[in-house]
Amino acid sequence: MSGKGPGMLSLAHVAGLHAYTPGLQPSGSGWVKLNTNECPYPPSPRVAEAIAREVGGDAASLRLYPDPSSSTLRQAVASMHGLSAGQVCIGNGSDDLLNLLVRCFCGPGAVAAFTKPSYSLYPVLVGIQDGTCTTIPLDRTLRLPVAEIAASGARIFFLTSPNAPTGAGFTSAEIESVLEAFPGILVVDEAYAPFARENAVGLLSRHRNLIVVRTLSKAYALAGIRVGYALADPETIGLLDRVRDSYNVSRLSQAAAIAALGDSGYYAGVVEKIKATRDSYVERWVNRNGWFTFPSQSNFICTEPRDREGRTGLAVARSAYDFLFSRKVLVRHFPSDALTASFLRISVGSDDEMLVLDESLDAWLKAPPNA
Ligand SMILES: *Cc1c(COP(=O)(O)O)cnc(C)c1O
Repeated sequence: MSGKGPGMLSLAHVAGLHAYTPGLQPSGSGWVKLNTNECPYPPSPRVAEAIAREVGGDAASLRLYPDPSSSTLRQAVASMHGLSAGQVCIGNGSDDLLNLLVRCFCGPGAVAAFTKPSYSLYPVLVGIQDGTCTTIPLDRTLRLPVAEIAASGARIFFLTSPNAPTGAGFTSAEIESVLEAFPGILVVDEAYAPFARENAVGLLSRHRNLIVVRTLSKAYALAGIRVGYALADPETIGLLDRVRDSYNVSRLSQAAAIAALGDSGYYAGVVEKIKATRDSYVERWVNRNGWFTFPSQSNFICTEPRDREGRTGLAVARSAYDFLFSRKVLVRHFPSDALTASFLRISVGSDDEMLVLDESLDAWLKAPPNA
């Protein structure tokens, strides 16, 4: 072997990339997994039936490529939101669509921006395109900094609403004031919108620079199937269709998603249950423990643990995280962001999971320091 290795031959910006760090997916059993905002309840039984039909039937054989434009699924999504199929693009998870959006609107000289904190995948995608990021800080009020966003100079702005990892929702009125003041493309990443009071879909008819991104990973309990969608002006959808993989959504995923969207009654029950569990634990941690907790419009809770001496901070959050981990309760800690370093982000689980979590937090409160 002689000459340069692959690393030396790669593009300079690629050699400097850092891969996205996903939440832990532990392989052993016995974990209470409250770290990646998956749904604690199973998907609609119609999903397994649809997949079985797709695998077993001759007509729709796995020998054949899937529908390259996911047209039946596009139509189902469009009908659900009162839009036309030309306003919908389907992705291999919403991460796929976020990536396509960065491809279309960001690169050297075309800045992407987002709030800090927000979804930590955005800077990774921007880095892949050799683009530049600007961040707009949020504070504990979680008021949307409209003027700062408008003046960000970005070609494209990613707004996670409800926000991750705080869980707080922005109002449609706040989002509309951004649309009126910001001259670029506004992507509202609505991964958690089914758990929120408001969403931005109604603004699409008035604002051509708006793109709403949704996923079936959270409220539809289908993180494993990888389906998300974008709602936007047909011209934007045309751009996404030009830069996506031609077969970006598998046959099984298309069938599963169509079945899930068709069972709105089942999912309304799932979402109501998760919201009720969420609200009861927010109330509990605020009133019983006296913990500062962001009002959640999502399927997770961002709370600031207070130890038995009344202290909060990064070390306290880490101590709670480590204690929970030692009891096989997995939550998320974001130590690198100033606003969230003293918080834990906890996905809303089943009643049994939440009980184990809450008992473990009580045990942490009673444990001697550094136990
Ligand atoms: C979970 C999540 C996504 C990813 O969704 P997938 O469809 O699973 O790729 C996107 N944005 C935010 C804010 C999320 O929390």
